[in-house]
Amino acid sequence: MKIDFIDLKAQQRKILSEIENRISAVLAHGKYILGPEVFELEEKLASYVGVKYAITCSSGTDALLMPLMALGIGPRDAVFTTPFTFIATAEVIALLGATPVFVDIDPRSFNIDSEKLAEQINRVKDTTELNPKAIIPVDLFGLPADYDSIMAIGGRHGLFVLEDAAQSLGANYKERLAGNLAHAAATSFFPAKPLGCYGDGGAVFTDDSGLAETLYSIRVHGKGIDKYDNLRVGLNARLDTLQAAILLAKMEIFPQEVETRQRVAQAYTAGLAELDRHLVVPYVPKGIQSVWAQYSLLAEKRDELIRELKKEDIPTMIYYPKPLHLQSAFAGLGYKKGDFPVAESTAERICSLPMHPYLSDVQQQRVLGVISEFFSR
Ligand SMILES: *Cc1c(COP(=O)(O)O)cnc(C)c1O
Repeated sequence: MKIDFIDLKAQQRKILSEIENRISAVLAHGKYILGPEVFELEEKLASYVGVKYAITCSSGTDALLMPLMALGIGPRDAVFTTPFTFIATAEVIALLGATPVFVDIDPRSFNIDSEKLAEQINRVKDTTELNPKAIIPVDLFGLPADYDSIMAIGGRHGLFVLEDAAQSLGANYKERLAGNLAHAAATSFFPAKPLGCYGDGGAVFTDDSGLAETLYSIRVHGKGIDKYDNLRVGLNARLDTLQAAILLAKMEIFPQEVETRQRVAQAYTAGLAELDRHLVVPYVPKGIQSVWAQYSLLAEKRDELIRELKKEDIPTMIYYPKPLHLQSAFAGLGYKKGDFPVAESTAERICSLPMHPYLSDVQQQRVLGVISEFFSR
């Protein structure tokens, strides 16, 4: 029995004819750049997420970068974020010459700790020359961050809040969908994300018409009337029409997949309940629903467990083995080991299990069986 960490082939088998029809339509009209599928997708995404504007772009990374560019963030500005995320979240801050200021995570949700966020903002204001400008909370593993607190803190200090929803499209927070929880949000259509295309892609969500207009301009070389009229320095950051076509086919089954992800996650949590002396299952606060981009647990003897699973042909992943404040890329920021103890200890114990909507009961029982066998030895 083969178990995939994320099974994109099972999904493709289910919707292959719809994908082929969509691709054929693009080949027939030939509008490969900003073709009609891009605009159809943007309308469907905006309506799904519940925002006025969905601006598609070339990747999740560019979806994070473009709003920061639109805000004019640069040297001497501070942007607050978590060190326990994929590099892209903080990379875009540094790329613009601004300073990423890390804030430790909550030990249960793995998302940015709101109390520590408030402390860090005050520290930067009181003891540095940096101007606090924005916060980028990450909805890690598909679980929305603590937006009630984060938006209140941001509001008190006049900071822009950009939700990194790369992993959380389809999740919800108190009746609102991820992508609609801050001033703007960035998502990714990287193939392994909950809604993935067959290449790179991303989108920005916002209700702000001024911001949306600037983002349409930035993604096409800072265009004005057209791309030969340039209002600002921008990017080539469009989503390919072919990728939009693939996403349109996938969106038809996405709400159903989100439901199935809940079932798979609940089955893991139930199946692991009696191992609570050895591992900690994911925490989901009341009123919040994760989309389970990853099912990540904290495990005793993590590395041995991973080896055992691997022996049994069961893939796992470590997200993330090294927090961002310890990455060489950010050595210039002057952080050291011990600065964010929760992120550091989480990185040493975390492990993600195979997770996707097509994981069968039998496959899941096998994963659970190997884990429970391992801890009963
Ligand atoms: C994947 C990811 C990104 C970047 O998305 P790309 O489409 O790969 O550029 C950013 N932030 C987080 C949290 C991610 O998981």
